[in-house]
Amino acid sequence: MPTSISLKDVERVKKHAKSLKSTYPHLSHSVRLNRAAQELFRARSYHELAKWRETTIASYVTDDGAVAICKFCGLYFGPDIREDQQLHRKRHDVFEEALNALGRIPEQHREREDRKRAGYELIYEGNNIEERVNGALEILHAWFDRSLESSIENGFWKRHPKFEVYVSYMMGDLTQFPDDVRKVLEGRFGRQDGMIKPGHSYWYPPAH
Ligand SMILES: [Zn+2]
Repeated sequence: MPTSISLKDVERVKKHAKSLKSTYPHLSHSVRLNRAAQELFRARSYHELAKWRETTIASYVTDDGAVAICKFCGLYFGPDIREDQQLHRKRHDVFEEALNALGRIPEQHREREDRKRAGYELIYEGNNIEERVNGALEILHAWFDRSLESSIENGFWKRHPKFEVYVSYMMGDLTQFPDDVRKVLEGRFGRQDGMIKPGHSYWYPPAH
């Protein structure tokens, strides 16, 4: 098999199968899928390609028998539970789609916690204002990633604000940051109140 089959590869095969419709109008959709998988990846069938995709996804998962962890999408799940496996398949695809569109996916819980800890240290113990502002940005970055992760899980990541905008939404609620740091951040990113609930750091699409 090819080294790995990405979500994009699967989408290419589906698209190619569609385009074969004009050349082979007499073939059924599933036969065209098989043909597309053969032509693009030399798979025996679409089913074989789908199995390669499964293997690709499984290569990100470590499993100690009790808990499976995906190092790509960060899900902890029951390795032998069918619903969990299906949940993981879906989530993995969505995270891969987000990666393709955004160029990155959010850091996972542990990295975010490390980033926050380092940020809090810098914000109070940095040697100068620039270092202390960088500490604040580390913390904001961890919050941003948690918010973005939740938006990917809940299907509205395409509307999630970019980091710079997210910081302006959080600005009015950063009272725990020292005044001088806050002033620099506000000068750099601006401030927009009412976009994220006070006391919260998750962004949700505005209700209409
Ligand atoms: Zn995964």
